[in-house]
Amino acid sequence: MKICFIVAMQAEAQPFIDRFGVEEVKDFFAPLPCKLYRTTLGENELDVVLNGQQHGSDLVGCEAASVATLAAIQQLHPDIVINSGTCGAFKKNGAAIGEVYVANAVMFHDRRVPGDDAWGTQALGNYPVYAGAAELAKSLGYKMGKVTTGSSLDMQPCDLQIIEENHGELKDMEGAAVAFVCSLFQTPILLLKSVTDLCDSGAETFEVFKKNLAQASQAIADANERVVKYLLK
Ligand code: SAH
Repeated sequence: MKICFIVAMQAEAQPFIDRFGVEEVKDFFAPLPCKLYRTTLGENELDVVLNGQQHGSDLVGCEAASVATLAAIQQLHPDIVINSGTCGAFKKNGAAIGEVYVANAVMFHDRRVPGDDAWGTQALGNYPVYAGAAELAKSLGYKMGKVTTGSSLDMQPCDLQIIEENHGELKDMEGAAVAFVCSLFQTPILLLKSVTDLCDSGAETFEVFKKNLAQASQAIADANERVVKYLLK
């Protein structure tokens, strides 16, 4: 089996990279910014693809995630893609910092396109997720929730409105973009997210995000490892 993780930030991936001893394959995707780390586990292949950097910072967001996913699927042919990373969540739904969730659905929350139902449907996305996600979450003891993706770390009132109307629970900046590309190839996608911040806590998101990033990245590394073992068993 070939498992391919798509991760936005180096800090999110590093604990997992260190643990599995995956090695960077330099310039694999050149001239694209995304980076490949690769190892084998018996007969299986484990790939970790990072979105890469520009101007000295990680390329978070949908565009870089789409490029990374497209390149990964076309060049690595994974059996499953796992978009692993951090997210915001809502304390009103009982979420806590460092908690890990598996997505049961994924859509965009900041694509406001006027028009008929067809435009609205296309804009929101709502892409399929890995059919075995519920069983995996149950077996490993993770909560499930709907991921909604947008291009900004902050949350404007119009974002919140769409999130609430669609029962979104986990707010990120890549999930739906990765899922969109996976849907084009019918590559199964599992979304695994750990919570860095609570969107309804009233605190400044970036400050809370920075403070909790290391803890959430450890939590996601543990989850990644458990998911790899589960998929390969
Ligand atoms: N300047 C920051 C950028 C982080 S962007 C830095 O370099 O540390 C936030 C990243 O974490 C994105 O990849 C996104 O998917 C995820 N994320 C965490 N909390 C989020 C939230 N509340 N809203 C949107 N994305 C969030």
